Amino acid sequence: LKFRKIAVLGYRSVGKSSLTIQFVEGQFIECYDPTIENTFNKTINFDGQDFYLQLVDTAGQDEYSMFSRSHTVDVHGYVLVYSVTSMKSFEVIKVIHSKLLDMVGKIHRPSSPHYAPPLEPPCFCQMCRIPTVLVANKRDLSKQRVVQTEEGKKLADSWGAAFLESSAKQNDTTVQIFKMIIQEIEKA
Ligand code: GDP
Ligand code: MG
Repeated sequence: LKFRKIAVLGYRSVGKSSLTIQFVEGQFIECYDPTIENTFNKTINFDGQDFYLQLVDTAGQDEYSMFSRSHTVDVHGYVLVYSVTSMKSFEVIKVIHSKLLDMVGKIHRPSSPHYAPPLEPPCFCQMCRIPTVLVANKRDLSKQRVVQTEEGKKLADSWGAAFLESSAKQNDTTVQIFKMIIQEIEKA
């Protein structure tokens, strides 16, 4: 049994809790206190192996948020969620990702005074690759869609991350999200 800690991040009201609870409990919650940060556990089998997942459903971030320790310490992978109905949530997810890169870069960066940071943004180097799945949620709300699939896909590609559209309400790709993040973690 492999233990994996996964943090679910994103702007408020994008469906972080809905996706997490849909995955763990198999039900769609219409109303879940948005200020609660909760941890859920679930064991799933992926590729013939059992994984014990600890999912940190965060209370959400905006462009000014700092990450707390529970969002960064011992986290194996990140599920970054925006809503296709909110351009703001798409903009905020870019800021969150860039802060993550910053933070993980700092953790791994040698403290030697002779160490020179790379000139290029270190997105693709092995050292700083953060296992990430970018999730475009609420795809069932097609009339309210303002972020197109292509835009999300392009962003994920630029990060070297996996990409998936989902609907916590219709529960079509919820399990896939968490299988994908395991896959990203395992190949890192
Ligand atoms: P969080 O703040 O990111 O945890 O967002 P919540 O999971 O609390 O969801 C915010 C609101 O959006 C709630 O009213 C949910 O019922 C609704 N919601 C979440 N995911 C979906 C979805 O995929 N489709 C639709 N139609 N509504 C959703
Ligand atoms: Mg929530």
